[in-house]
Amino acid sequence: MKKIAIIGSGFGGLALGIRLQSKGFDVTIFEKNSKIGGHAYPLERKGYHFDMGPSLITAPDIIQSLFQVAGHNLFDEVDMIKLNPFYRIYFHDKSYLDYTDDSERMKKQIATFNQKDAENYTRFIKASKKIHDVVIQEREGTKPFLTLWSMLRFAPRAIGMNAVVSTYRFACHYFRDPRLRFTFSFHPLFIGGNPFRTPAIYEMIPYLEKSGGVWYSKGGMYSLIQTMGNIFKDRGGSIRLNTEVSEIIIKGKKATGIRTTSDTVETDAVVSNADFIHTYRDLITPEHRRKWSRRKLERIHYSMSAFLLYLGVRHKYPQLLHHTLILSHRYKPLIKDIFDHHVLPEDFSMYLHVPSRTDPTMAPPNCESLYVLVPVTNLRAKIDWEKTKHKYRDKILSFLENDFGLKNLKSSIEVCEMFTPVDFQKKQNATVGSAWGVEPRLTQTAYFRPHNRSEDIKNLYLVGASTHPGAGLPGCLLTAETTESLITKDLLSLGR
Ligand SMILES: Cc1cc2nc3c(=O)[nH]c(=O)nc-3n(C[C@H](O)[C@H](O)[C@H](O)COP(=O)(O)OP(=O)(O)OC[C@H]3O[C@@H](n4cnc5c(N)ncnc54)[C@H](O)[C@@H]3O)c2cc1C
Repeated sequence: MKKIAIIGSGFGGLALGIRLQSKGFDVTIFEKNSKIGGHAYPLERKGYHFDMGPSLITAPDIIQSLFQVAGHNLFDEVDMIKLNPFYRIYFHDKSYLDYTDDSERMKKQIATFNQKDAENYTRFIKASKKIHDVVIQEREGTKPFLTLWSMLRFAPRAIGMNAVVSTYRFACHYFRDPRLRFTFSFHPLFIGGNPFRTPAIYEMIPYLEKSGGVWYSKGGMYSLIQTMGNIFKDRGGSIRLNTEVSEIIIKGKKATGIRTTSDTVETDAVVSNADFIHTYRDLITPEHRRKWSRRKLERIHYSMSAFLLYLGVRHKYPQLLHHTLILSHRYKPLIKDIFDHHVLPEDFSMYLHVPSRTDPTMAPPNCESLYVLVPVTNLRAKIDWEKTKHKYRDKILSFLENDFGLKNLKSSIEVCEMFTPVDFQKKQNATVGSAWGVEPRLTQTAYFRPHNRSEDIKNLYLVGASTHPGAGLPGCLLTAETTESLITKDLLSLGR
């Protein structure tokens, strides 16, 4: 049996572990934290349960195909609940839209903003489907794009679908109302992308949501992580928690194992599910990095970070759905402040996750488990979060109570935990405290993204948000499929 070490137990690491273990490899996952899950980490305080990172499940068929590889059925093992509407978007003028897969309901709501835009909705969805079919059905999303030629071959199709313009420009083609331009261009923000420069290939997401739905796994996202961890272990895989990898051992340009803080483990191949720059800069000595020199690594653009509040609240707020977005009056200027100016502006947009709306087990009776995510600039900004975080928290809470209208919020809070960009850096080894890793912009997409197979070192691979196709639960599961196919080809067919 070929031995493989995977560094990190995020969605990508676990999915790859299940796939490789099912193919007969002997896989050990090394995780620095005391629980598996990576960004999908759990938090429990006084009977309130929170998912600290991802909360929104799309593309259940991609998860199902992973389960099937290991002979399992997602819907038998995880209590999956379909949400409808998917989310509510509150605009700054207090109007709102309930985003749903029901076309007629969508058109009716859109028409209250702009009649012509409602007529264009069907055209937009058709265009989104076209991109979706190429990426998902024709499996361009799982091709490894190892050569420039593979990218050039795909380029005419991408241009033909208008998929290389930004998602914002793509949306503007169909919608005039600024609120709708937001609604149909913001999806890259879910995966750390800037809608004003993320290629419209990501405009497949609206169709992905419409066709596959938006789901919640009872008990929270962590129930899915736990099930994946159990499947991996049932297939014979091992997980070593509290074990930080300090070096990838390389002999004769080949990865031959890993060094942890306590021992050395020899393997036939190594896969990193950790942050890309952390992997190259901190785990591989410079003489082995021909392509990814320090200079080249410094040129990689990292995505934004996030400021999170986990609130246990003795109150019910029916105006919040399971997923709610609350938007600032600024769109492009706010995005620019976050991604390019690296400042903490006065205004903010936010995403709220309230699983207790759907699942009473997430909070004590008549209470809400309420997670607030505010996208913020990463640590390229010189913000002292230790000093800033309390004031920033208070500002967000005042906004929610006084401007948005969550009555008695502050006096009802029983639990209040914060998570800042510095925590992303400390807990996840995330470069510049980015919450989503390598930014999905055109020059960092497909061939231009770090490859699933290392360009510098034999038998070293990447999986997860850093590599192709990128962040998000479906993206990370697809990276696992791509990386698995490369490992199988390299280690089994060629006997490397
Ligand atoms: C706040 C937030 C909300 C999100 N919401 C959603 C959502 O609703 N839906 C969605 O689909 N996606 C969402 N995402 C994106 C999604 O969570 C991520 O893209 C995905 O979880 C990343 O998984 P990954 O496989 O890249 O691994 P990661 O989650 O990045 O895990 C990597 C693991 O490697 C470990 N590690 C790092 N260095 C070492 C080392 N040297 N030795 C050992 N272990 C190491 C880390 O501790 C970590 O456990 C969200 C992300 C964030 C941050």
